Amino acid sequence: MAQHHGAPAKPIVAVGDSVRTGQLIAEPGGFISAAVHSPCSGKVKAIAPCADLSGRMVPHVVIDVEGDVWADGIDTSDILVTTLPEDRQLILDRIKACGVVGLGGATFPTHVKLNPAPGSPKAEALLVNGSECEPFLTSDYRLMLERPKEILVGAAIMQKVLGGPKAYICIEDNKPEAIKVMEKALQELGYADMVVQPLKKKYPQGGEKQLVDAVMHRQVGSGALPISVGAVVQNVTTAFAVYEAVQKNKPLISNILTVTGDCLPVEKQHNYWFRIGMPLSYVAEYAGGVPAGAGKIISGGPMMGKAVANLDAATVKGSSAVLYLKYETTKRWQEGACIRCGRCADACPMGLEPFLLNRLYKAGDRLDELEKYAAQDCIECGCCLYSCPAGIPLLDNVRQAKQQVMGVIKARAAAAKK
Ligand code: SF4
Ligand code: SF4
Repeated sequence: MAQHHGAPAKPIVAVGDSVRTGQLIAEPGGFISAAVHSPCSGKVKAIAPCADLSGRMVPHVVIDVEGDVWADGIDTSDILVTTLPEDRQLILDRIKACGVVGLGGATFPTHVKLNPAPGSPKAEALLVNGSECEPFLTSDYRLMLERPKEILVGAAIMQKVLGGPKAYICIEDNKPEAIKVMEKALQELGYADMVVQPLKKKYPQGGEKQLVDAVMHRQVGSGALPISVGAVVQNVTTAFAVYEAVQKNKPLISNILTVTGDCLPVEKQHNYWFRIGMPLSYVAEYAGGVPAGAGKIISGGPMMGKAVANLDAATVKGSSAVLYLKYETTKRWQEGACIRCGRCADACPMGLEPFLLNRLYKAGDRLDELEKYAAQDCIECGCCLYSCPAGIPLLDNVRQAKQQVMGVIKARAAAAKK
């Protein structure tokens, strides 16, 4: 129930109810929240807190799988539907009803992001992000190869909702096949106000602010959203989910998972379509079991992903990868003293000074200064940690500092509303 940014969804089913695949089982729990649908047909066994991938207890609806009988009104065929609905509100309603959230990592409800607050600057560009967010991951790449037209129709739907900005399909130049396939599909669909935009391969090219800078040469300010400079960023997988919601009335109940890692033989490294809610252990089993020599299992990419504490936890909308990494790969160096080399600051794509934020965080009670030096702007990319020769856990500490500062900022905003 808590697999998106915002308030957890509220279950609308009861224990013992029969459900069908794609049936609504939980309504959004607030303005920023998303609906959740059953990924299978079966019987509701329990509604209770269960441990997620990190071991945190979150509300779940547990369903005993009895088959795959879909709810009425959902088009499960592969037939491409290109005629777009005329009504903007109808499009937004369908996206909301189908529980679509941003699948690039943030899981922010898409119907909210596509409907900027009154008074926001006009959207001048829609950046559809096909720059795989992290090393090792190939799910976006695979989707671009296999469903290019669906992604482009999804982008056209989002263009329409946003009032017709130019759309850029952003792909790193180490994926020439995807660039070729997407260009061909674009030509065949004949969309005039859309281009495939090759970008330099670098990490983190897929970050929202980095993408806006790379394509529009505009900088999104501290604490601001891309719309402040006329940009809206959506992932290619989100564009696909928008297509399925609007053109097929198909809720977001499946996604692609890259199963890979440096201790998994190449022939076992795959991308899988998976039904959201399926325990991660099923994926591991299907892929041949946890490989010998796996020192750490990570959900997500190697830079921003989280260690899996509970392999039996349910996969969620934002699940993108399972990495099996060797112990030596994830082993951290013994922490030493900062030698003031400045590498962490050079590496930070947000222009922060991680060594300074780390020092302020460790000193405790320096929240004013942490906010002044913009700990809240950290995108948790891990570049500082990776570059530090002293083995200082910069990411962990800056992340903690960011959470504390965000708490202060939110409390201030809530007090100002009263
Ligand atoms: S994780 Fe480190 S490098 Fe990345 S944005 Fe945060 S402070 Fe900068
Ligand atoms: S990279 Fe590490 S050692 Fe170098 S300045 Fe940053 S914190 Fe200090």
